[in-house]
Amino acid sequence: MQVDLDSGVMRNARLVASPNYDARPDGVEAELIVVHGISLPPGEFGGPWIERLFTNALPLDMHPYFTEIGELRVSSHLLVARDGGLTQFVKFTDRAWHAGQSSYNGRAACNDFSIGVELEGLDTLAYEDAQYDTLAEVVAALCDAYPRLSPDRLVGHSDISPGRKTDPGPAFDWERARRGIGAACQAPRARGA
Ligand SMILES: [Zn+2]
Repeated sequence: MQVDLDSGVMRNARLVASPNYDARPDGVEAELIVVHGISLPPGEFGGPWIERLFTNALPLDMHPYFTEIGELRVSSHLLVARDGGLTQFVKFTDRAWHAGQSSYNGRAACNDFSIGVELEGLDTLAYEDAQYDTLAEVVAALCDAYPRLSPDRLVGHSDISPGRKTDPGPAFDWERARRGIGAACQAPRARGA
């Protein structure tokens, strides 16, 4: 996996353009990766609804939960489906709207300087092997592309919005994720391929 630096997109990712983004502040680039968990409706996987939410096309009458969240204007750079499939909604050089009110090491507004990675899932249900595999490849490729990123600059949404957000939840195995990321970062990377 590799970032195309000119376009700010991950090669091989499926691209779906979200209108929910804007420019990062002048001179600010990605230096944090935020892991999220999401499913729509909660606990249901494989539907088109996350994509619909990020493109402001969620049918509000389809589910009571959609009525609650359907007016939100949100997005994420990446979504990792249960089968490990990767979709990109916002260029890495732009600011996606995934973190909301948040703070990392005393610095507020994490959207300004982070990349959001949504894992399709639930706080309390084990994430899939394929998702850990894709996440490891994604983080390795991002760290390769953006010099201010590193494998230890990886946090959960709950870490930067404590009390307000719980994702990716206790089901997300940080130790396993870090092991996979470590291995992916060690692997020889295809440069310029
Ligand atoms: Zn989140």
